[in-house]
Amino acid sequence: MTAQLIDGAALAKEKLSQLKQTVISLQGRGIQPGLATVQVGDDAASRIYIRNKSRACAEAGVNSIHHDLPAQSSERDVLRHIDTLNRDASVHGIIVQLPLPKHLDARRISQSIAVAKDVDGFNWRNLGALMEGTPGIVPCTPRAAMVMLDSAKIRFEGRHAVVVGRSNIVGKPVALLLIARGATVTVCNSHTADLGAITRQADVLVVATGKAGLITRDMVKPGAAVIDVGINRLPTGKIVGDVAFDEVKVVAGWITPVPGGVGPMTVAMLVENTVNAAARNQQ
Ligand code: NDP
Repeated sequence: MTAQLIDGAALAKEKLSQLKQTVISLQGRGIQPGLATVQVGDDAASRIYIRNKSRACAEAGVNSIHHDLPAQSSERDVLRHIDTLNRDASVHGIIVQLPLPKHLDARRISQSIAVAKDVDGFNWRNLGALMEGTPGIVPCTPRAAMVMLDSAKIRFEGRHAVVVGRSNIVGKPVALLLIARGATVTVCNSHTADLGAITRQADVLVVATGKAGLITRDMVKPGAAVIDVGINRLPTGKIVGDVAFDEVKVVAGWITPVPGGVGPMTVAMLVENTVNAAARNQQ
């Protein structure tokens, strides 16, 4: 058996082109959606992520304005900058690229973004709404995982979903989304005993650990839908996921590649959150 590929790059392209139509209609009503990206310091990987985000914005007709702050900026400087963006009517979404330099409190800084402009969905109000199952801004990577599962028409009710990883930005929110859809959910972490015994029960397996090739063929139930969130750079420079793709694709029913899977779809979700924030702002 060979798994069907859930092609994140293709789905992202389709999503961005749909969003472009929404943006055109917003522009017709005098609204130009805008995303402000803030980077403090000069982390090379952050620079690449921000470039991808601004390219995706351009594809959908969303303005993206990048704000580069020096690595030695004080917390007060960064908070003041965010406050200005919170009050800027041309900005509908704000993201602060992580990681931040160590002397800054990432938690305090990300919580300072206005709830309505928190397009990463990390504000406690948005996370609280997610927990309650009420409308709010949903974090991009967890949403990307769900949209990709929906594209493959995966059912959740009566099925066992296993999430490997319990971070606040991926594992926990994706588990909440799966619960909301009626799946029976197990969340694993680095202390889980006999991980394979649990992952082998999964009809839906979402892996977000940052451990290259952690999930091998023997850990996957035949026919399962496997979403690989991990992004790992090998010493050779090659980018791989947390799932041993070549061997797992032989048993899984559906699988996402890395690169070209959850990554591009996450960026498309960020653009969607920004367009939706602009549309809400106008109501
Ligand atoms: P974190 O490091 O915050 O969390 C990793 C989680 O994996 C932790 O809960 C940890 O458990 C768990 N874990 C680690 N090793 C094991 C193991 N051997 N068995 C079971 N669980 C384990 O990472 P993130 O959630 O932020 O990111 C995870 C991966 O996803 C990274 O590769 C990251 O680059 C990628 N990512 C990709 C995105 C995309 O757009 N595609 C977006 C965000 C992240 P414990 O809590 O016990 O330590």
